[in-house]
Amino acid sequence: MRPSLLDPLFASVRSLSGIGPKVSGLLATLLGTQPPGAEPRVGNLVYLPPHSVIDRRNRPGIAYAPEGAIVTLEVRIDRHQPSPSGRSNVPYRVYAHDDTGEIGLTFFHAKQAWLERSLPIGETIIISGKMEWFNGRPTMVHPDHIANIADAASLPLVEPVYPLTAGLSPKVLARAVDEALTKAPALPEWIDAPVLEKYGLPSHRQALQTLHNPHDPQDIALDNPARQRLAYDEFLAGQLALALVRQKTRRLSGRKLEGNGNLKAKIIAALPYSLTKSQEQAIKEIISDLRQPDRMLRLLQGDVGSGKTVVGLLAMAHAAEAGGQSALMVPTEVLARQHFATIAPLAERGGLRVALLTGREKGREREEILAGLRSGAIHIIVGTHALFQEKVEYHDLVLVIVDEQHRFGVHQRLLLTSKGTAPDMLVMTATPIPRTLVLTAFGDMDVSKLTEKPAGRRPIATAILPMERLSEIVDRMRIAINEGQKVYWICPLVEESEVSELISAEERYESLKPLLGARIGLVHGRMNGQEKDAAMLAFKNGETRLLVATTVIEVGVDVPDATIIVIEHAERFGLAQLHQLRGRVGRGDKPSTCLLLYKGPLGEVAQARLKIMRETEDGFRIAEEDLKLRGEGELLGTRQSGTPGFRLASIEAHQEFLEIARKDARYVLTRDPELQTKRGEALRILLYLFERDEAIRLLRAG
Ligand code: ADP
Ligand code: MG
Repeated sequence: MRPSLLDPLFASVRSLSGIGPKVSGLLATLLGTQPPGAEPRVGNLVYLPPHSVIDRRNRPGIAYAPEGAIVTLEVRIDRHQPSPSGRSNVPYRVYAHDDTGEIGLTFFHAKQAWLERSLPIGETIIISGKMEWFNGRPTMVHPDHIANIADAASLPLVEPVYPLTAGLSPKVLARAVDEALTKAPALPEWIDAPVLEKYGLPSHRQALQTLHNPHDPQDIALDNPARQRLAYDEFLAGQLALALVRQKTRRLSGRKLEGNGNLKAKIIAALPYSLTKSQEQAIKEIISDLRQPDRMLRLLQGDVGSGKTVVGLLAMAHAAEAGGQSALMVPTEVLARQHFATIAPLAERGGLRVALLTGREKGREREEILAGLRSGAIHIIVGTHALFQEKVEYHDLVLVIVDEQHRFGVHQRLLLTSKGTAPDMLVMTATPIPRTLVLTAFGDMDVSKLTEKPAGRRPIATAILPMERLSEIVDRMRIAINEGQKVYWICPLVEESEVSELISAEERYESLKPLLGARIGLVHGRMNGQEKDAAMLAFKNGETRLLVATTVIEVGVDVPDATIIVIEHAERFGLAQLHQLRGRVGRGDKPSTCLLLYKGPLGEVAQARLKIMRETEDGFRIAEEDLKLRGEGELLGTRQSGTPGFRLASIEAHQEFLEIARKDARYVLTRDPELQTKRGEALRILLYLFERDEAIRLLRAG
């Protein structure tokens, strides 16, 4: 149950004075209240940060106040000049002066009684607003603030400015925020004293005060300790919730996977190469996880071509040594077949049974595979999402590996996980998700990285060329093929339409065929599985030397002696995709080339993308640039499902605090797993405050 201390923050904004259904509706729009139509709460206003300030500290005197400047003036009221009766379109004017000069205050459609009350003749008044020089005379139209000397202190010299929505007046909003702030209770401190001290952070309530009552524009800056404090609190709530979930799932498992190493040794001996240092390191980390009673949740990041597959295979071999089954899930059928083809012969050396399960295995064949999974006769299963359909049952699924994870939603991962009793989980990705994103989305997932490419790899030369040079490029390809090289030719990605993508691939195939004869192949997503296999196989073993393809080959396809990739309409592809595509070459010991063909004129973003591709092969840098160009949600594939956003924290500006919050959350739970100490109690309040309280239900003493 939510502590009653927080009740004022969870009351409807209607409880604030002067807020009726209309303003409440406008606030709901502004604050994006969920579910739509729900009334916003007082707390939503308290945690609405101003986006800027109006600085009213400039007090130059009337004569020295520049045109257009926001100034505050202390003036004596001389006379009122009301609109002539019946001519309300002529403004009401009030004249005033200070030591430097005279000013006319202008009011349209003014209420005379109110003006006489606020600006009495002979009184000294403080006004603040925008200066306008009209025909050489200083004026101010509708001052933003009018206060008599006694109330001068109430005039905000640095005034916070909040985001607005049509129909909502800034004054009404500012007043509502002010009143909301008075309802914010003092809360027990949940941050450890040394952290507060080290970063000079104020208390939670003090931080809110500073945010809404700035005395200096710097007070609302992202790097001000007040804002840092609030960002830290928000991160901490998120990290603590994730850590609680993790603590719970880890407890569920509790199975140690011990292996004798025999199988792994056999597989390693059968490899035509030796493992890289980072492959060895990753395998070590994974196996050490598998040996633990805790459940593994590990991300294996490695750029395209860094050799993740064999790392996954050795993990599965370990699981088999321990007597359990493993599943390797990939996003496409082509990739499933390729993985199966690489893995099966190696695993079979150790006497393991490997099977393939996609939408294509049907009838008797499918029944046999399902039976093998049920009985445990099959040790390793490779497949697409078919792996987690209802009919599929496992004898003892202990390890799930998801390859190229950005293609799968969280939901699908959970489904597959539900097939075992909390199996260990390894997620392999070539899209280096920046650590901050991993953190906010998955919490404390362990990460292994393949930082080196297998020995002997040569850099890929990337060139950017206009479509106009097509015939010249075709000539070059013919020469390259005659020299024995292999070429991928990727056809344009046509917006949203698989059909037109297909047409363009077929057209390209037809137009190249007369020039290259039988040595040209075609593969696209509308082919049936056998046709695709045949086309890939013909290219792999050299019967065809130029393969026209749609993006079906984007992920994971491995033909080590392909050395050229041509990408048509490269300007239509995203960075991550271009990087994936380019990664199809440069896998052997020969130098490789990537030709990015574009159709001008290029937009700014497209130009930036192509330039980055030419500059670097570093997948991490490409991912970071991609993030900048596309935004965070899309990279994680969570835009639709809506990653819980942050109100105050900015992943970019407060990265350092995210890291501290992560460590802190973890530390707290090792000391106080049920949040029962004094600090634990305070942290529970924090979870409620930022609406992360679902996690509290995971506690035994919830
Ligand atoms: P990715 O990380 O993109 O999934 P793969 O696992 O498909 O990469 O491996 C890419 C290619 O590199 C494959 O042909 C694989 O056999 C080869 N390979 C993997 N590890 C090594 C290594 N240590 N030395 C040489 N070649 C390797
Ligand atoms: Mg791969």
